[in-house]
This record gives sequence, structure tokens and C-alpha cells, in this order.
Amino acid sequence: MKQTRQVKFLDLSKLHQDLQPELGDTINEVIHSSKYIGGEYVEKFEHDFANYVGARYCIGVANGTDALEIIIRSLDLSGKEIIVPVNTAVPTVEAVVNSGNTPVFCDCGPDYTLSMDDLSRKITLDTAAVIPVHLYGYPCDDILVDIADIEHIEIIEDCCQAHGARWGDEHVGLAGVASAFSFYPAKNLGALGDGGAIITNNESIATTCRMIADHGRLTKFDHEIIGRNSRLDALQAAVLSLKLPHLDKWVEHRRKMAQVYDRELASLPGLVYTPPSEIFRRHSYHLYVIYAKYRDNLRDYLAARGIETGLHYPFLVADLPPYAQYSTRPTLMLASSFPSHVLSLPMGPHLTEEDVLYVCGAIKDFYS
Ligand SMILES: *Cc1c(COP(=O)(O)O)cnc(C)c1O
Repeated sequence: MKQTRQVKFLDLSKLHQDLQPELGDTINEVIHSSKYIGGEYVEKFEHDFANYVGARYCIGVANGTDALEIIIRSLDLSGKEIIVPVNTAVPTVEAVVNSGNTPVFCDCGPDYTLSMDDLSRKITLDTAAVIPVHLYGYPCDDILVDIADIEHIEIIEDCCQAHGARWGDEHVGLAGVASAFSFYPAKNLGALGDGGAIITNNESIATTCRMIADHGRLTKFDHEIIGRNSRLDALQAAVLSLKLPHLDKWVEHRRKMAQVYDRELASLPGLVYTPPSEIFRRHSYHLYVIYAKYRDNLRDYLAARGIETGLHYPFLVADLPPYAQYSTRPTLMLASSFPSHVLSLPMGPHLTEEDVLYVCGAIKDFYS
């Protein structure tokens, strides 16, 4: 069989080569500054990213998992229940457990995010918060905000896959008390290593989070609470400030490529379901995830044609051994069919329309 093309799932080295020589200059500048922890580069990025999202405060932290955990700790929920989607990355749930709270798994809808029907069923008097995850970059149903309001529960948004995702014109991450972002290299905005941020409009939460992330202090020796060390490096902050002005352009490119996938794959009803895309819930396509019949065979077929794909996720968190002890309070699990059907197709600023047409051609060949 003739292999005509290679389509990478994501190509970070190309993206960073395109940013040379500025990227190299930035790194050298930080090296010469001697300001490796805290200082002007971190402050600048916190300011830039707060502006980008449209929030009052941004606190740089070491990674997205820490961002979630620190937000939860700052709320002092004293061991109560926190509702999490069953279809998410492990860290969403890990942060709940590591902050001393109890995760309650909620089913997900055909849009892969929290099911609002199941959410209403899972709320009890012990529920303190809910963590909506804008999974794959698709904003959750915004009815969530009304439900949380009526029930007096806190919303902590997991925006770790949602840089550039919007409800209408408003960036996600402002609906609740605070939100968590990750700058893991493969995210829509990624560092050259780990990084994360907390976004909030609440001054006292911002202060508490900042203290927790820096040994319980705001200035050098006033350790008021027991904190920890979770800081965004100056080097990563400087790289992120350099990349941030390109983010909207990259997201726009992802959206264009998604449109081509949507159009080309529309001819496979019952075999391939393309991702949901309500206009108000502006998808940032961190991942382009299809729901496919004969998924495993399709994946092998594409691999043989030089097309890299991913699985997000090959399990539900509730089915992993360490998390099996937490309640799903059984209701019909729509999400239980996701792990064996979801397939993430190549997506990112590196893709060309020809790449997408090649991938779609291979998918159509597979089903014929
Ligand atoms: C990446 C991710 C995280 C964790 O971020 P890290 O920076 O890797 O710690 C949390 N939740 C979701 C949904 C993610 O995709």
C-alpha cells in the first residue's frame, strides 16, 4: 500500500520554529535578567492573561492541577462533595481528592460535557461545588450557571482545555468563583514545560490563592497560613507572554480546520458523529473528537496511512481503580460508551486544508 502523506496529531516544534528568533531572544533576556522566580516576567504575563480572559486577577501557578487544587483549598469547603464530570482528564478529580473533598461523578451528555439533567440529580445538601470542564475546548451548557445559583453551590471552571473558548463574546472562566488554566505544552496556549494559572474576579479569593501558592505569604516573611510551593517560572511566563498575542489566530485556524472536517464527514451518518457546535458555545477545538463506529479498526487504518490520532479518553475516571470508591450514584451512564467510540483527529495550527482532506478521504475509504 502506498503511503502518500504524514499527518501529525500536533506539531509543537514547527510552531516554535515559526516563532524564532523572538523565542530565543526572550529566553536569553530572562537568563540575563537573573529574575527566575517571581518578578517582572511573571507579573507581566499575569496582567496579559487576566486582560485576555477579561478578569480582574490572574495568579500564575506551577500547573493546571495545582490551579484547581489551590482554588478548592481557598474556598475551605471542609470535606464536602464536589461534583465532577465522569468524562474528563484525571487531574480534575485528583484535585478534589487531594484538597480533602469528595468527588461525585456526574454523567456527560452527547456534547461530552456535564449533563445538566444528571447534574440536577446529583446535587444534595452536601454539595459544595461543581467543576464544569469545558472539555476539548467546548464550553459547557451555560444553564449550569442558573442551576448553581438556585442551589447555592460554587462553580469552579476547569478551563485547562479551553483557552480561546467563549460563551458568546465572553471568554469562559468568569462564570464562577474562580477558574483553572493549564499551560502544559500541548494546550492551545502552552509553555515550554509546565505552567498554570488561576483566574478570578474575587479579590479575597485571589489573595488567598496567591498566599497558598507561595508558602502562605504575600511578602517575604509574613507566613500567615500553611501554604505550599506552586509558582509559574519567569522563563515560562516570558514564553507565554510572547505566544499569547498569537492565540486567537491559532484558535481561528483550528476552527477553520474543524469546519472542513465537519463538512467532509457529514456524509457518514450513523458511522461518524462530528463534534457539537452550537454558535453561542464557541468551540476552541483544543481537540477535534469524533464518535466513530468500529473505532479501533478505524484508528489502525488511519495509522497505516500516516495519520496520527489520539484517545480522549480511553476510560471514564470513575472506572479507574483509585477512583472506583467514589460514588456515581448510578443513573444511566450515557458517557459509558465514550471510551470505546471517541477518536481525536489531528488538530492544531500546523494542519493544512490538504491534510484535513487527506484524513477525511482516508476515513471515507475505511467505511466504504
Ligand atoms: C491538562 C488538564 C489538567 C491539568 O493540567 P496540568 O497543567 O497538566 O496539571 C486539568 N484538567 C484538564 C481537563 C486538563 O486537560
